[in-house]
Amino acid sequence: MIPESFIQDLLGRVDIVDLVDSYVPLKKAGANYSACCPFHNEKTPSFTVSPSKQFYHCFGCGAHGTAIGFVMEYQGLGFVDAIKDLAARTGMVVPESEGGQARQENGGQLRALVEIMARAAQYYKEQLKRSPKAIEYCKKRGLTGEIAARYGMGYAPDGWQNLQAVFPDYNADTLKAAGLVIENEAGRRYDRFRDRLMIPIINQKGEIIAFGGRVIDQGEPKYLNSPETPLFEKGRELFGLPQARQALRETNTAIVTEGYMDVIALAQNGVGNAVATLGTATTPTHVQKLLRQVDRIVFCFDGDNAGRNAAWRALQIALEALADTTQIGFVLMGFNLLYGVA
Ligand code: ZN
Repeated sequence: MIPESFIQDLLGRVDIVDLVDSYVPLKKAGANYSACCPFHNEKTPSFTVSPSKQFYHCFGCGAHGTAIGFVMEYQGLGFVDAIKDLAARTGMVVPESEGGQARQENGGQLRALVEIMARAAQYYKEQLKRSPKAIEYCKKRGLTGEIAARYGMGYAPDGWQNLQAVFPDYNADTLKAAGLVIENEAGRRYDRFRDRLMIPIINQKGEIIAFGGRVIDQGEPKYLNSPETPLFEKGRELFGLPQARQALRETNTAIVTEGYMDVIALAQNGVGNAVATLGTATTPTHVQKLLRQVDRIVFCFDGDNAGRNAAWRALQIALEALADTTQIGFVLMGFNLLYGVA
């Protein structure tokens, strides 16, 4: 018996759009994705995948189901084997009846981490309202309350253990696993984010999986992100993707910047279709994610050496994903050059 909780965690981890797309290339169609149905013969697509419902449905033959159902149908596998296949994709281990306990706890841990991140974000949001200094900083950068709300912005006050007010069990393992506290060599804990503007990083399911923190005054580093955690893999996530969804559809173009503050500044100026990589070079996963939603990607980098190297790497990765209908462009700031590759 595979515990129901494991199946739920598995379905929580797998994005059905990614999954189906790896077998049947999907095209965005409004809020959903579509393709010619893999389960019956057709020339016009009536097979749709819903990212919000995590369901596929064919209006032609009536095939429908979750990620598990898709793998069973497509690969002709039984229920247990389909689960094993999906688990292998996500790096999860299917619990055996005896060893099940540990895995169940692991799945439970993910849920616990999501909950912790949400509570921390709520706390940071409240602190922003109470900090004249942080509000002043936002105003100076021309950020309105509307934009702050749209990106769920907050403020981590100065101080070493502020989060103790939110999490009375400040020594809980989950708090460290979530990347919110750091433990020094003496085993003493302190808040990772102090005196920083806090920007939640949200996955496609709308869960907060990490934070970016920008210094308010002087201080190093200027940008501090959550470490990689069981929730957060840098190479898979793009900042601002959930917020950009509608603008991506309208423009059919994604602007990829190097930082979340760029994305927020662009949104403040009416450009809603920008996203940012998170302290990492562009990965094939980033490009694939974007090309599922738009046909055109414009990478924006600084015109310095580092920026040009990053642009070159992004070009190499993007070229592999290019199809007839996709376009990749580059803007190197300070040079005002626009290279278009059709
Ligand atoms: Zn069908």
